[in-house]
Amino acid sequence: MRRLLFAANWKMHLGPDEARAYLKTFRATYHRREDRDVWFFPPAVSLEAAAQAVRERTDLVVGVQDIHWEPKGAFTGAISAPLAAQAGAKAALVGHSERRHVFGETDEDTRRKVAAVLATPLQPVLCVGETLPEREAGHTLAVVHRQLAGALGRLDAAKLAHVTIAYEPVWAIGTGRNATPRDAGVVHREIRTWLAGRGAAPTAARVLYGGSVNAKNIAELLAEPQLDGVLVGGASLDPAAWAQLVQTAAA
Ligand code: PEP
Repeated sequence: MRRLLFAANWKMHLGPDEARAYLKTFRATYHRREDRDVWFFPPAVSLEAAAQAVRERTDLVVGVQDIHWEPKGAFTGAISAPLAAQAGAKAALVGHSERRHVFGETDEDTRRKVAAVLATPLQPVLCVGETLPEREAGHTLAVVHRQLAGALGRLDAAKLAHVTIAYEPVWAIGTGRNATPRDAGVVHREIRTWLAGRGAAPTAARVLYGGSVNAKNIAELLAEPQLDGVLVGGASLDPAAWAQLVQTAAA
């Protein structure tokens, strides 16, 4: 049976007090289900507050939205995987579309970041996905291949099994326009084929979909067996609504 992962990317929202209040409501509203995990990606300033708020719930995990690849040093404004781990993070997003397209992160940056995360106990979540012009030009699979090869191409099968991959088409993030389950399924299948080509079991890594997931479209998305879960921005910001979605989706 698939163990579903519901990952909440809070982006630049919810400071420490708000994170504590959010997770209090979430804990009171969401009752643990054995068939799913829930991960939260707060902004770095709220990591410790969030990690403390979920410390008694092994089904709830806190992760960091971005890291620098160096473990420490003169990198003003950046945080590293070991520092995030000290604050209570157990996972790290790498290559989110906003990092790539707003902050200019390259495939080589994502390679270094995944390697840095894998050098710690944190679990990396690599985000991949095409822009609208790339999709319209028929380049979706080529872009996803390039991003996978760039970030993960040097990892062996054992390491690949620790990586979660989130397919997040850029045109679907924060736009209210989601990929159809069928279209997402095609890309997910391709990601598994890519993993298999590198000796990893196609089901070893969890493959998530992200891009305007909400309470209305979650059922049809998770009905697609290729999806192991979802990475959600906007619809994860209200704790009661997010708890309700996680509690009831694919029930
Ligand atoms: C995201 O931030 O990864 C995301 C998918 O955002 P949204 O759900 O708001 O589209």
